[in-house]
Amino acid sequence: MFEKILIANRGEIALRVIRAAREMGIKSVAVHSTADADAMHVRMADESVCIGPAPSSESYLNKAAIISACEITGAQAVHPGYGFLSENAAFAQALEDHGITFIGPSAEHIRIMGDKITAKDTAKSLGIPVVPGSDGGVADVETAKTVAEGIGYPVIIKATAGGGGRGMKVAKSPEELEIAFRTARSEAKAAFGNDEVYIEKYLQRPRHIEIQVFGDGKGKAVHLGERDCSLQRRHQKVFEEAPGPAITPEMRARIGTICAEAVAKIAYIGAGTIEFLFEDGEFYFIEMNTRLQVEHPVTEYIFGVDLVREQIRVAAGLPLSFEQEDLQVQGHAIEVRINAEKLPNFAPCPGRVTQYHAPGGLGVRMDSALYDGYRIPPYYDSLIGKLIVHGRDRDEALARLSRALGELIVDGVDTTVPLFRGLLEEPDIQKGDYSIHWLEKWLAATYG
Ligand code: ADP
Repeated sequence: MFEKILIANRGEIALRVIRAAREMGIKSVAVHSTADADAMHVRMADESVCIGPAPSSESYLNKAAIISACEITGAQAVHPGYGFLSENAAFAQALEDHGITFIGPSAEHIRIMGDKITAKDTAKSLGIPVVPGSDGGVADVETAKTVAEGIGYPVIIKATAGGGGRGMKVAKSPEELEIAFRTARSEAKAAFGNDEVYIEKYLQRPRHIEIQVFGDGKGKAVHLGERDCSLQRRHQKVFEEAPGPAITPEMRARIGTICAEAVAKIAYIGAGTIEFLFEDGEFYFIEMNTRLQVEHPVTEYIFGVDLVREQIRVAAGLPLSFEQEDLQVQGHAIEVRINAEKLPNFAPCPGRVTQYHAPGGLGVRMDSALYDGYRIPPYYDSLIGKLIVHGRDRDEALARLSRALGELIVDGVDTTVPLFRGLLEEPDIQKGDYSIHWLEKWLAATYG
């Protein structure tokens, strides 16, 4: 096992990894920008190294500085968290070249899944059902029209290099397609430096269902069921739950087995998430994330496992610590993402947190790097905490979420807490009856 690992991230996820490492008797090294010198992950780690100025391009994305930090501190492995360099194949490769272990999949697997067309082709060849669409990239408007006619309108145009919910355009007719195709390409070029786009059938009322998989890198893999992440704003998840309210044990076993077998076939190592749209009982692959997800705690709650510990173990060459049969769903878990944002526009709201009190009690987990007096810097993501609850069933989880939100205090900045209070009042949310469009419609009706 490693003696020391470096965490190439900040905020709640850096704390999450430090906690797992400490329980395993592994020393942790935090890296930070000058803006984060007072951050909680720096205080909580055993050692810390400043890797550059505030902008992430010069610090948290600075591969050379992170590798130097490993060399200075003697860290044998790097956990990338999520975001930043977590799905950067060149970074995984550079670490390997320096004899440092990347706690994540191989550079090759990151590369395959990072390009959405290659990912979809690979998924298809591994027996995973995909959304009907173009065979690879679409080069011009005429081809786009032919493809769209073949699959039927509406269609969605997606950037092959896209991510984070950006680079997607919906078209309901050939006229709309012309404009959507051109804007999608130029936006993709500007945002990702790659203007390749592809076309998919636009599903009308799907849910976003994702399957957690885990491989040992030697051809063995398991699945840890699904998460329903349909409640999204601008294609970004805000509320996630497991198990999915619309998924039966039979559906879970069927799609879970397909996913586990697929990743076993490619000898995938570590945590991965295979994302699907789910409509009328069918699953349609959209992409695979080759890292730990923000919403991983709901899975940890219902299976009683520590996914970060497992990531570190398999990276060190140890076998998986659970078999598929050991993984039985226990109760229900919900996560809400608390952002420092001001409603109704969700404008980022950095600043000083004058008072912070985390909720507690049975079945409540608050993953956050906040503390009294902390100054949220304006340079990074506005996620300041994740409140995760677990109950014996969905109703108990909802009641617990409501109770825990009432205990949470974050003074000094605006947060998205009022959004969740509003959601909990909604009969559709109480019943678990929602698709990927529900939240946008509700926001428009509630806030105008
Ligand atoms: P990203 O990598 O940017 O997150 P995804 O391909 O995962 O992009 O899609 C993000 C979200 O966009 C999905 O969760 C869903 O809400 C919506 N979406 C993507 N593809 C489709 C589709 N074919 N039909 C309807 N909605 C879609």
